[in-house]
Amino acid sequence: MKRWEIEGIVELKDLELPNEEQLRKGVAIIECVQEIPCNPCVDACPTNAISMENINALPKIDYEKCIGCGKCIEVCPGLAIFVVKVNEKALISLPYEFLPLPKEGQKVKALDREGKEICDAIVKKVKKGKTPVITIEVPPQYAMEARNIRIA
Ligand code: SF4
Ligand code: SF4
Repeated sequence: MKRWEIEGIVELKDLELPNEEQLRKGVAIIECVQEIPCNPCVDACPTNAISMENINALPKIDYEKCIGCGKCIEVCPGLAIFVVKVNEKALISLPYEFLPLPKEGQKVKALDREGKEICDAIVKKVKKGKTPVITIEVPPQYAMEARNIRIA
């Protein structure tokens, strides 16, 4: 069994990841691994980058079509989509459903998929909506690990 089936924690080996060039431009990483009837991410995408064979299948992303707009993040009920852009620093856009929301410029702690603190992060953008989307900046080595925040 995979770890997500036992503990609910997704591992990188469960995912189809973008290449370095795609990460430089910024793309959505879909960490949706459970086959459930759900597809708002498909409908939200303005470039048709996300596809599904059927309503129960896992979403597949075409990283060449993805423009990193983040529209899929806020519609995902599973909070399973992140936009990751890696250059000298990494920018991670993530869904955040807690209140109060952080403020732009605020220093927070970045957490990994297990909820462990991994590094300091700076909040670069706060997009309010049904599901708020927070963009944080972290050192590039944490780009594939930082998936949540804790306000210190
Ligand atoms: S980030 Fe934008 S372009 Fe990329 S998959 Fe999501 S909605 Fe589509
Ligand atoms: S909206 Fe989220 S939970 Fe639903 S299929 Fe897309 S990625 Fe998975």
